[in-house]
Amino acid sequence: MSEPSIFTRILQGEIPATIVAETDRVFAIEDIAPQAAVHLLVIPKTPYRDVAELAAGDPTLLAEMVAVAHDLAAERADGDFRLLFNTGAGAGQTVFHVHAHLLAGGSLGEKSLVGA
Ligand code: AMP
Repeated sequence: MSEPSIFTRILQGEIPATIVAETDRVFAIEDIAPQAAVHLLVIPKTPYRDVAELAAGDPTLLAEMVAVAHDLAAERADGDFRLLFNTGAGAGQTVFHVHAHLLAGGSLGEKSLVGA
């Protein structure tokens, strides 16, 4: 068995974080190093490695992540948002438990590309 990811450890309460939303299968936290006025991470409780594995393995769960992101953007900003999945180390992925960066609030310039 591989070690639990940092996000699984947050979900289990072993590492502190601000959980801003939770459903049966998805949770969302504040990113520790925000890159936009609103920068949240939307994370499935099941730890798929990246968005490609998630989409192939459980597309409904991916759709649920998008729905949670949509609701959070409406709650915390004006409803417009950017969802970003870094996929692979070369693209800036550092945590290999799939997560969507939800960026919103203010004007999102080209610079709001996490890991760029
Ligand atoms: P990525 O580089 O796309 O894999 O994104 C990982 C994200 O996790 C980064 O934006 C980090 O700032 C964020 N992160 C890492 N550790 C924590 C933590 N303990 N609490 C909240 N966010 C974290």
